[in-house]
Amino acid sequence: QADLAMYRAKASGRNALFFFDPQMQHALDERVALEDALRGALAREQLQLHYQPQVDHQGALVGVEALVRWQRADGQTVAPAQFIPLAEQTDLILPLGHWVLTTACRQLAAWAGQPRWQRLAMAVNVSARQFHHDGFVDQVLQVLEQTGAPAERLKLELTESILITHIDEVASKMAALKARGVGFSLDDFGTGYSSLAYLKRLPLDQLKIDQGFVRNVLTDANDAAIARMVIALADTLGLQVIAEGVEQAGQRDFLAHHGCQLYQGYWFGRPMPLAALQDWVAQHDGAAPE
Ligand code: C2E
Ligand code: MG
Ligand code: MG
Ligand code: MG
Repeated sequence: QADLAMYRAKASGRNALFFFDPQMQHALDERVALEDALRGALAREQLQLHYQPQVDHQGALVGVEALVRWQRADGQTVAPAQFIPLAEQTDLILPLGHWVLTTACRQLAAWAGQPRWQRLAMAVNVSARQFHHDGFVDQVLQVLEQTGAPAERLKLELTESILITHIDEVASKMAALKARGVGFSLDDFGTGYSSLAYLKRLPLDQLKIDQGFVRNVLTDANDAAIARMVIALADTLGLQVIAEGVEQAGQRDFLAHHGCQLYQGYWFGRPMPLAALQDWVAQHDGAAPE
């Protein structure tokens, strides 16, 4: 039943015509409401970072990944999958990304004087729009300076989607940050575009095996083969390799057997607030990563 309205929208920089029905109108209203709420959350500091352990063979903590959480006023927690893509479609990702980076670097700086914590790496996710923004390099350097965080402990997680366009711009931005000590991890590796040419052109430090391959690594021969290939590739290129989404000891054992170095996943620890991370260290962390 055609109760169609015409809607002129800006889609990826171009003007486009869309036809839609009341259901689509509803979805659009919800999006606008979510965007407004997110803007407010940023202003009111309703965002938090959780930290998920990254461990070595002995299960010792070597770093954490900072993962953003949105605690709405009504107590509801909104998962990043629900608002990061939206923020990326608007410029909201810029202040949001700045907030995440600043908060993570403040924490990193606070750990600097503490023996058990000062060697930990802090992994921070960077979105495509944020990375490609003109001021990105300056922003990272400024945040490092303002917070006093050691650049060598900061690891930026990029996705393949960031790397496939404007390769020269990407290479020079990475080189500029790398020169100051900042590290790079390639997140969700294997899920993006298959050109491997950029791997040798870009100053990466780490490949992160996507959790989609880790999930069925014990039961799906193809996933197992891909996981092994990523480990071998990292080894050949002289990169560190970490598996994400490890939920079972068997997955860790399989990956370890094939040469994986580092692990992250619910089997070791979920993303958690800082206080819980401190408890986690007290309870689970055997060897210190000295
Ligand atoms: P990601 O960077 O690949 O992060 C890993 C995701 O897997 C996290 O979901 C984490 O909670 C989840 N995870 C970790 N271990 C396990 C496991 O053993 N099993 C399963 N099933 N899941 C596991 P989360 O926190 O919901 O984040 C989802 C995505 O949102 C992230 O994927 C990242 O792409 C994005 N994101 C999160 N925080 C930020 C941020 O501060 N900035 C940006 N730009 N993106 C972010
Ligand atoms: Mg990540
Ligand atoms: Mg990932
Ligand atoms: Mg992922």
